[in-house]
Amino acid sequence: AKNREPENYRFYQESMNTEALKRLAIETQLRHALQRQELSLVYQPQFDLNTGAVSGLEALLRWDNQELGQIPPKEFILIAEETGIIYDLGHWVMCTACNQVKTWHNMDIELPRISVNVSPKEFIHPDFLSNVKTALDESGLEPGGLQIEITETLLMEHYEGTAKILEELSRMGVQIAIDDFGKGYSSLNRLHTLTIDCLKIDRSFVNGISVGFKEQSVIKAIISMASAMNLKVIAEGVETENQFTFLKDKHCQEAQGYRLSLPLTTEQAEYFLRKTKTS
Ligand code: C2E
Ligand code: CA
Ligand code: CA
Ligand code: CA
Repeated sequence: AKNREPENYRFYQESMNTEALKRLAIETQLRHALQRQELSLVYQPQFDLNTGAVSGLEALLRWDNQELGQIPPKEFILIAEETGIIYDLGHWVMCTACNQVKTWHNMDIELPRISVNVSPKEFIHPDFLSNVKTALDESGLEPGGLQIEITETLLMEHYEGTAKILEELSRMGVQIAIDDFGKGYSSLNRLHTLTIDCLKIDRSFVNGISVGFKEQSVIKAIISMASAMNLKVIAEGVETENQFTFLKDKHCQEAQGYRLSLPLTTEQAEYFLRKTKTS
């Protein structure tokens, strides 16, 4: 028994290998995902808490690979960023989302806003603004119908560059939301100098509503700060009636989450938009 490696060491090595192999498989498959048409978008409705109407849809990327099956974005977006694959993916998402909304408009299905997630690397790439313009031009979608969601991390790590791109987007009429707000400790000083339209309260805070008074005061503070800065607030990850009622009572403008609607396929979203009031 003397020459045996400690069990936990062997376990560590094996799990490292499995991780590395999985990563490699994802990277290899991801390079062909677009061309093999394995990507799609689902759409999660966002609701105006005041009127109950649909205020927009958030486009979320889905990948169904022939060998690996369905892989959640959490597992492939980071790899896409590190390998540069995100540029093509991101451009595809932007164009597909804009085209879909325009298709709906042409069918007399109204939708006030489509939100698209943009990763930091994509956002600061020199081609980003022209890619957005291309997506808008080719689809014919009005810029005001597009919202771009970026995270706080981006604002902190690339503040100077980001501020300029935000100004240009704003000049174009595109709306900007800060995603996962509250998780990244952004400087409020900086926040109020940026041309943004909306804060999306991170799911972890919404979860906290059910926990207690202290957690609730954080959300209340975010809502009143946003209102003072003239920013709209969207609460993410609303899962319970209790959270929904709390947010409504505290005058949070919009909400999304499993309690209100799951992300929908294109066909489901079309059916949903036909039968639901939009604002
Ligand atoms: P996110 O932008 O914060 O998107 C919200 C995530 O929460 C989505 O997961 C959504 O399905 C999920 N969600 C919605 N309502 C609830 C709820 O009530 N409870 C819980 N527990 N979860 C809820 P999804 O689709 O797996 O996306 C995960 C993340 O991947 C996104 O987080 C976003 O950061 C990234 N992502 C997704 N699509 C894209 C994309 O097209 N481009 C980029 N760059 N990132 C994307
Ligand atoms: Ca988002
Ligand atoms: Ca604006
Ligand atoms: Ca989010």
